[in-house]
Amino acid sequence: MGMMTGEQYRESLQRLNPEIYYMGENIKSLVDHPAFTPHVNAAALTYDMAGEPEFEELLTTTSHLTGEKINRFTHIHHSHDDLVKKIKMLRAIGQQTGSCFQRCVGHDGLNAVYSVTYDIDKKKGTDYHKRFVKLLGEIQSQDLMVSGAMTDPKGDRSLPPSKQQDPDAYLHIVERKDDGIVVNGAKAHITGAVNSHGHLVMPTSAMTEDDANYAVCFYVPVDAPGVIHIFGRQTNDTRKCDCVIDQGNPEYGIVGGEALIVFDKVFVPWEHVFMCGEHDFAYELVERFATAHRQNYGGCKTGLTDALIGASYLLAEAQGTHRAAHIRGKLVDMVHLSETLYCCSVACSCQGFAMPVGSYMADPLLANVTKLNVTRNIYEIARLAQDIAGGVLATTPGETDLKDPRIGKYVDKYMKGVADVPAETRIRLIRLLEAMTCGTALAESMHGAGSPQAQRIMIERQANLEHKKRLARKLAKIDE
Ligand code: SF4
Repeated sequence: MGMMTGEQYRESLQRLNPEIYYMGENIKSLVDHPAFTPHVNAAALTYDMAGEPEFEELLTTTSHLTGEKINRFTHIHHSHDDLVKKIKMLRAIGQQTGSCFQRCVGHDGLNAVYSVTYDIDKKKGTDYHKRFVKLLGEIQSQDLMVSGAMTDPKGDRSLPPSKQQDPDAYLHIVERKDDGIVVNGAKAHITGAVNSHGHLVMPTSAMTEDDANYAVCFYVPVDAPGVIHIFGRQTNDTRKCDCVIDQGNPEYGIVGGEALIVFDKVFVPWEHVFMCGEHDFAYELVERFATAHRQNYGGCKTGLTDALIGASYLLAEAQGTHRAAHIRGKLVDMVHLSETLYCCSVACSCQGFAMPVGSYMADPLLANVTKLNVTRNIYEIARLAQDIAGGVLATTPGETDLKDPRIGKYVDKYMKGVADVPAETRIRLIRLLEAMTCGTALAESMHGAGSPQAQRIMIERQANLEHKKRLARKLAKIDE
């Protein structure tokens, strides 16, 4: 009991028995498997950094339930300071990992479910909040990592859940029993799912009365019977198994590690059910979770970008271009774009507010603006990094050729830039840049925490365009 270290987190995963598949293999021990260790390492850092004096203030706080010291990833925000510290924490961790560290999704789910269950109970006389607080206490005291499982496969996007040809296109209740419910369906691209202790499952969109069986929220341990994880492929993922340098970021990987989670007639006891048919609260839960997670993106992505800017600068030095005015200008542009994202995350945190239950959430309009900016600025930052790197980003020989007894000397000779930087150093920087700007990492910035259109919908809902029209009418002296 109490806060775990990274090593204790790894040991705790080994005591679990989740059903995981990856490229035709049934994975028995993910902690030792090269396809998973970078993701486990990144998540483990959320435990280890909490024990480092330098980061303690950001990564730990006090439980409002028990007064005990807890890891911030299990905390319910109760002030603006909590919201801002979350952003600073994500940036600090992102600087160390250069990759997604996964634990924020469940953290944001905990905060969303905490406030929504309170509101459901007030309106419907249910007791979801009490149940949830009990689980939250266990998560805090055991320092558990929880995935936030929201996105359904969705089938035909033009149809609501209840009208789908395949009823499992959205996860739903198939049976209500005396001791709990049985659910069927799946949740798609769930970050950190395979190396979490449990899943917090939430509905994915607004629902009508016809969709009541789809308005369901619950918690299951990662190894509950019928829960099956199918791990997704990533750019260059076979490099995890056959090389080190070519991975670019061998310790922490490219992205968080996403899985399709199948729920095949999974039983959930009532004590872990937090919404069961209250379709009128489904959208509230989606919006609060989405706001919390979109708030994050100017934190973690800025941390990653700090490392990417550093890699771009080092590579320019290794190639002798770092003094050129256009290179320095591009580095400044990268900083400007990155800090703009950070400003957005800090702003939506400072403009957060208290919910009826007493917890705090970020400003939804500004949080959605933050994430929409990430879908653009990160691509521009990546474009500038690739511009600085040059064509070697796409053509550099592999690690095995660098180490080959016959041709290694040629790779070394012709991959060298300036005289005092070894060719291997330049190659390592090229590979890090490649990992951070090519492929899956970029797609994650586009679609993680919801696709751009999801942010536009929420921005339009929050924008109060009628108020803006009234302002214009007043200025132009137009009668109402
Ligand atoms: Fe956390 Fe960022 Fe990864 Fe989301 S993308 S889980 S906010 S590190």
